[in-house]
Amino acid sequence: MKALNIPQISTGDILRGAIGEGSELGRAAKAYMDKGHLVPDEVVLGLVEDRLARDDTQGGYILDGFPRNGEQAKALDDRGIVVERVISLVVPHDVLVDRLCGRRVCRSCGRSYHTEFSPTQQEGICDDCGGQVYQRKDDVEEVIESRLQVYTDQTAPLITHYKAAGLLRTIEGNRAPQDVGAAILEALK
Ligand code: AMP
Repeated sequence: MKALNIPQISTGDILRGAIGEGSELGRAAKAYMDKGHLVPDEVVLGLVEDRLARDDTQGGYILDGFPRNGEQAKALDDRGIVVERVISLVVPHDVLVDRLCGRRVCRSCGRSYHTEFSPTQQEGICDDCGGQVYQRKDDVEEVIESRLQVYTDQTAPLITHYKAAGLLRTIEGNRAPQDVGAAILEALK
């Protein structure tokens, strides 16, 4: 995260990186991701452990998209990894579907666009780095619905867990990106 000068570790990005490299792990993960299902815990936990072992995590880090179920949350506790703050971004279902259906992402720098709300200046080309802008395979309506169902069934119960621990900060996500960003920074103080 640029504003705090600490790495933002996205398990989704790590998995997409493995798919891009054509590794065996990437091939195995792709089958789950294309359906909107969670990749098995042992795979994701191994990737997170490897990533956290790198030097740039010494001054802190943000886990983005992890933990996503009770087992993953327990794995953090079991390894003595202390969670200091948990951010829950709340956005209505229909708004999420619209946002994700129109989302486009730069393959090179990862910047996100939206076909309607924040389009690129030139079709398919990133304004910042000139990279190729594409639609994620899981950003289509049927898979989005599956991902949201997985969230309700497996991830949402973590809210109760982290609320009880006094770590949860709930942020209204249905507003301008800069306002959401400012609220997240405030919640991390
Ligand atoms: P995201 O980029 O966070 O939207 O994640 C995209 C997809 O990657 C998810 O739908 C899952 O298939 C997989 N994924 C990302 N993070 C995790 C995780 N913590 N546990 C299991 N699967 C994950």
